Amino acid sequence: MSNRTFTMIKPDAFRKGHSGAILDQILKAGYQIKAMKMMKLSAEKAGEFYAVHKERPFYGELVEFMSSGPIVAAILEKDNAVEDFRKLIGATDPAKAEEGTIRKQFAASVGENAIHGSDSDANALIEGSFMFSGLEQF
Ligand code: ATP
Ligand code: MG
Repeated sequence: MSNRTFTMIKPDAFRKGHSGAILDQILKAGYQIKAMKMMKLSAEKAGEFYAVHKERPFYGELVEFMSSGPIVAAILEKDNAVEDFRKLIGATDPAKAEEGTIRKQFAASVGENAIHGSDSDANALIEGSFMFSGLEQF
């Protein structure tokens, strides 16, 4: 079992000033920060990150949204990191997310849903290395 996951505070949550509150909840859930930076993705970089969704009808919207403003990207460490983080952020659609989850509290819609969390150990590694060089990971 891996102990790392990758996250991004998405442009909607950043714009609304929720980054601090979201990071506070992540730390209180027991995660340690192993890499972190604020950045604005180009449409090309956002498209590459979400390439798995290329054929989906919402892909264009997703790329436009993810490159619309600053994000906070991070690699996080804790036992059972990936699975527990998906529980902490809640369902993709905030209307279906459980009470107390980050998406329930901070997301407005399925398209603009405040935060990303890797869906497997393998993807956590791929996504972390996609956003951070070796020198930026601790
Ligand atoms: P993420 O990968 O961002 O953590 P997720 O794993 O919960 O989200 P995915 O199925 O990987 O959900 O979808 C990636 C992103 O694409 C979602 O977070 C959302 O922003 C967008 N998305 C997914 N489904 C839809 C939809 N039906 N309409 C609009 N946008 C969608
Ligand atoms: Mg996903």
